[in-house]
Amino acid sequence: MEKILNYINGELVEPAGKQYFENYEPATGKPYSYVPDSDERDVEKAYQAAKAAFPEWSKMNKEKRFAILMRVSELIEERLEFLAQAESRDNGKPLKLAKTVDIPRAATNFRFYATAILHFASESHSMEDFAINYTLREPIGVAGCISPWNLPLYLFSWKIAPALAAGNTVVAKPSEITPMTAYLLSEICIEAGMPKGVLNIVHGYGHKVGNAIVEHDDIPVISFTGGTVTGAEIARKAGPKFKKLSLELGGKNPNIIFEDCDFESALKTTVYSSFANQGQICLCGSRIFIQSSIYEKFRDAFVEKVKKLKVGNPKDETSNLGAVVSKQHMEKVLSYIRLAEEEGGKILTGGQRVMMEGELANGWYIAPTVIEGLPFTCRTNQEEIFGPVVTLTPFDTEEEVLAMANSTKYGLSSTVWTENLKRAHRVAAQLHTGIVWINCWLVRDLRTPFGGVKNSGMGREGGFEALRFFTEPKNVCVKL
Ligand code: NAD
Repeated sequence: MEKILNYINGELVEPAGKQYFENYEPATGKPYSYVPDSDERDVEKAYQAAKAAFPEWSKMNKEKRFAILMRVSELIEERLEFLAQAESRDNGKPLKLAKTVDIPRAATNFRFYATAILHFASESHSMEDFAINYTLREPIGVAGCISPWNLPLYLFSWKIAPALAAGNTVVAKPSEITPMTAYLLSEICIEAGMPKGVLNIVHGYGHKVGNAIVEHDDIPVISFTGGTVTGAEIARKAGPKFKKLSLELGGKNPNIIFEDCDFESALKTTVYSSFANQGQICLCGSRIFIQSSIYEKFRDAFVEKVKKLKVGNPKDETSNLGAVVSKQHMEKVLSYIRLAEEEGGKILTGGQRVMMEGELANGWYIAPTVIEGLPFTCRTNQEEIFGPVVTLTPFDTEEEVLAMANSTKYGLSSTVWTENLKRAHRVAAQLHTGIVWINCWLVRDLRTPFGGVKNSGMGREGGFEALRFFTEPKNVCVKL
């Protein structure tokens, strides 16, 4: 089996302890590569390399930084097919999705921030004839970037690209469950001429490698995407060290369907927003609220479409859903389906593991599951499941659905379906989420602020927000 290696100081290296653990292929449930079981010694080595690289990288002409990041983007694009296959194998997602969403977006992330840094500007504040203030925005130093398994290269690059573009050097850790494309990215960085030490990728477990990054006294900025419980632990550790923190956490997103929606469009997109990537996108709508007058019509049409979704080999172009990411995650999702039944929910379709044949017989597949008849306050409707499971709930009035939509501790995104312009704006303004989509889902302009409120996180990624996060503002006041 292939061995993944750390990328430290421009080289692919073994972990200090020479220990590895197995990396599984979700489609088959079998191990297929080894992941370095790195520890704080590797993080220290990566930090020292990043520290040494910082003076030159941070002072480098922006055009040069731009050229290196653009080259990374181009190489990702050139290897799209290969990277998509690797991502699909590592994560279980349909190859089609990796080809059309994950890998193209990783290339775009590098291109977007390579160009953004050329346009990034800081403010000046004039006090008429008395004084003028100008704000310097300087790279901070060594940034720590930690990412999850659901959109591996997509989310990894979404952090690394702005951190590097802003002039920081980076110690990064991808999820130990999906490390492969981050490893392939290190090969691309070497080929793209990334100066040694600018980007360092340390593989391994969260409680070892992730924790060592968070606890490191000289890594002053941490960008994290992952679960809310992990985010809280990171905040507890980073807070007393006064680190700059960006936390992109879990969600329990409402999808609100009013009777005056464009029915076919709402139906089609809601099927996609419920089950894309096996429901393992932080933005998937998992609570579907439908106005009572169209509840039965929508429910029946929705269930009919969901029944037609094909759960299958991720490599197969006709599969709508692949495998979920791990055995442990599959068991968690299935336990929530049992909980929904205990809470009185009626399963309209799905509800169980899908057993495949041949080499896929031990793979981790779950049928897309639709449940109705649950109160909006129950655990199934309040806790993040992060799998192919949605609930349907009827509502009568705007006030009622807003109360239900806003009732969870999460506040990442929401989706509203209505043809009534006034209602759309009124409801959007009252939803407690960082992102609202009206009559669409996952439409992303990378210049817009991205992130959640409440337990869905702290801070925003995207556009100049990320460049502001990865720079330290310094005001200079000059008396005239
Ligand atoms: P996770 O919190 O288990 O792990 C995320 C990363 O943190 C991994 O790299 C992991 O190794 C590391 N980690 C774990 N413990 C750590 C610790 N003590 N210190 C430092 N690092 C540690 O999350 P996951 O299961 O990989 O991802 C799923 C979660 O991510 C879901 O809750 C999902 O909603 C969330 N998510 C949020 C967004 C967003 O943009 N808001 C995007 C994608 C996923």
